[in-house]
Amino acid sequence: MGKVLIIGAGGVGTVVAVKMAGLPDVFTEILLASRTKSKCDAIAAQVGGNRIQTAQVDADNVPELVALIKRFQPDLVVNVALPYQDLTIMDACLECRVSYLDTANYEPIDEAKFEYSWQWAYKERFEKAGITAILGCGFDPGVTSVFTAHAAKHHFDEIQYLDIVDCNAGDHGKAFATNFNPEINIREVTQRGKYWENGQWVETEPHEIHKPLTYPDIGPKESYVIYHEELESLVKNFPTLKRARFWMTFGQEYLTHLRVIQNIGMARIDPVLYNGVEIVPIQFLKAVLPNPGDLGENYTGWTSIGCRIRGLKDGKEKTYYIYNNCSHEVAFKETGTQGVSYTTGVPCMIGAMMYLQGKWKRPGVYNVEEFNPDPFMAELNRHGLPWIELHDVDLEV
Ligand code: NDP
Repeated sequence: MGKVLIIGAGGVGTVVAVKMAGLPDVFTEILLASRTKSKCDAIAAQVGGNRIQTAQVDADNVPELVALIKRFQPDLVVNVALPYQDLTIMDACLECRVSYLDTANYEPIDEAKFEYSWQWAYKERFEKAGITAILGCGFDPGVTSVFTAHAAKHHFDEIQYLDIVDCNAGDHGKAFATNFNPEINIREVTQRGKYWENGQWVETEPHEIHKPLTYPDIGPKESYVIYHEELESLVKNFPTLKRARFWMTFGQEYLTHLRVIQNIGMARIDPVLYNGVEIVPIQFLKAVLPNPGDLGENYTGWTSIGCRIRGLKDGKEKTYYIYNNCSHEVAFKETGTQGVSYTTGVPCMIGAMMYLQGKWKRPGVYNVEEFNPDPFMAELNRHGLPWIELHDVDLEV
């Protein structure tokens, strides 16, 4: 059906490549390109059967990207490198008139600030070029956004209160490790909290609001309100929302490590001089922390991510909870990676499938909740991320 270029060969890139390779009718040709080609080659060898071609590319460099895209002529470019590369890859896609999909919104490397404005600014240019950009197609953002669209379409006349709840109840046996790129992860979880209420953003101290929430088949876990990127597009696309928040679970041990990392300056993103060489502390920290892609082997337990929604149906108040639980062990057996890479990579593959099948194909720049949720929801059940719905339950929030 179509040719796809995947950029980025980390934990998420591995899952995307493995899953796409298993669907030759949809993904007829796959090129996996990244900064370090040997990582692409290792993934191609893991998949086998000459399903995956590989290449080296610096995704910060537009002419290099353009040359690669022109050579391979993909129908879609899937960006699972880092958020820093979103704009250069979108620029290259525009120049080559090829559609684009990613899992995380743009973030400048020298400022820990992520928002959609930079990518939404490409809307007109993508429309004019007749190509599609699908933004935020991982789990959160991604599946949580599609869950919200599904709820609004099928279960509510008006959604009013949205609480996205993200629990990782897994144990990787390390004193401290992050589940995806450490630099991006630490920048995200150490920032000030923020949520939407009554038409405006409310800011909090980092981790100021917290309470135990009960996750299905897991139990109660202390959960913290943090800012997460899908809130920005969801409150825009669902203007009936009176409040929208994002909760994430953290263990005490994790928070203690995080506090120490911040207090000693290792979370700094500005360069410091060390032995005459400029280094960025958080990038150095990434080099000494466990590689998230290697956590899978001893990872036990589950992730549980979903949406708790309150609103109106037929003039009456209704509550609704939709979620997926994913086993780290099952994810590892299937793809060689842990559950967080898996829950990001599977929806990314499904989004690419939606595009190639013409179901999510419209010139312009879109967040995933702007497309029809139905075919995507059906594929989640087929490809390892089944979802469960609970009606009229205590949402605890
Ligand atoms: P990793 O750090 O494991 O992988 C990133 C990959 O991108 C690496 O292979 C890296 O190369 C490559 N890369 C980095 N910079 C460049 C560059 N300039 N040119 C080419 N390749 C480059 O990250 P993850 O796999 O954990 O995460 C991938 C993406 O997924 C991130 O953007 C992350 O924010 C997003 N994500 C989204 C989630 C969601 O639910 N929506 C959840 C989790 C992650 P090298 O190997 O040389 O370092």
